[in-house]
Amino acid sequence: HLRQLNKLKHTAAATADGETIELLANIETADDIKALHKFGADGVGLLRSEFLYLNRDSLPEEDELYQVYTDLVKKMKGKPLTIRTVDLGVDKNPRWFGGNGTPNAALNPALGLTGIRLCHAEPVMFRTQMRAVLRAAAHGTVKMMFPMVSGLAELRQSLVHLETAKRQLAERGDAFGTVETGCMIEIPAAALTVSTLLKHVDFVSIGTNDLIQYTLSVDRNDDSVSYLYQPAHPAVVRLLAHIIRTANRMGKGVSVCGEMAGDPDYTRLLLALGLRRFSMNTGNLLAVKEMILCSDTEKLESDIGRIMRNEDPDRVDMLLKKLNETEN
Ligand code: PEP
Ligand code: MG
Repeated sequence: HLRQLNKLKHTAAATADGETIELLANIETADDIKALHKFGADGVGLLRSEFLYLNRDSLPEEDELYQVYTDLVKKMKGKPLTIRTVDLGVDKNPRWFGGNGTPNAALNPALGLTGIRLCHAEPVMFRTQMRAVLRAAAHGTVKMMFPMVSGLAELRQSLVHLETAKRQLAERGDAFGTVETGCMIEIPAAALTVSTLLKHVDFVSIGTNDLIQYTLSVDRNDDSVSYLYQPAHPAVVRLLAHIIRTANRMGKGVSVCGEMAGDPDYTRLLLALGLRRFSMNTGNLLAVKEMILCSDTEKLESDIGRIMRNEDPDRVDMLLKKLNETEN
């Protein structure tokens, strides 16, 4: 089967009825970009930038970040690179932030000072990263995306910091490029107010890993409740449908960059909900492409109604299995 999959490397990702699908990669290092080119992905949908902040005693300086991002941008050979601003605070507290690479000791770290909130609490760190991203954008196509946004106030605040970062660069006389901006949707409140968020950004990317966690109140890292972690739970499916349809209606970009996007068991569900942009670990690209090639979006769109109307998770699982098994 692996050899069969390898033959798909240079096949365009399109459904059986001719819908073009964008396949993007989730990356962390320059090595991942090699794999991206090897598997023919269309760009990077998620660069997790945390690695530049962990396992060190002090914050990275702007020039160091600029060098790393510029190296990555150049290796993209014109394809877009979506850099997620740093998303810290739950699993590991960096040493420079009073931690020791240890888990956050707050009672509910996943509901505490994490992601974009931590960036707003550390504005100098945040704008330093933004300036590095903006300068790297002078060398290629770069998009900037904010993690763990809960609503308009946090998004607005992030965009104000971005304007400040641009002004600082202009005052210094440093060259920088333009970036599309995006917002991750991984908190139910953001999902339900996505039409408002989309008035302020170019795209959204759905982080299903966290969206599932917060919707179902199931810690994504706690084995004792992992049986409740259901990507196709009716509540999750409805949120996904709402986000994707709203973005499509508004003519804005929408992707999924959580693990769900790289799992061929959910490819047809996401296609049926109208998703046309998937971002995943490079190792999953070909298996998802294989599923796309044998799927018909018109047929899927007519089948999705029954799934959407159902509120019984077991029934939905069964209907989903049927959706995946049928010849399209
Ligand atoms: C997600 O939450 O789905 C996501 C892509 O972000 P991370 O897994 O890095 O939290
Ligand atoms: Mg997340």
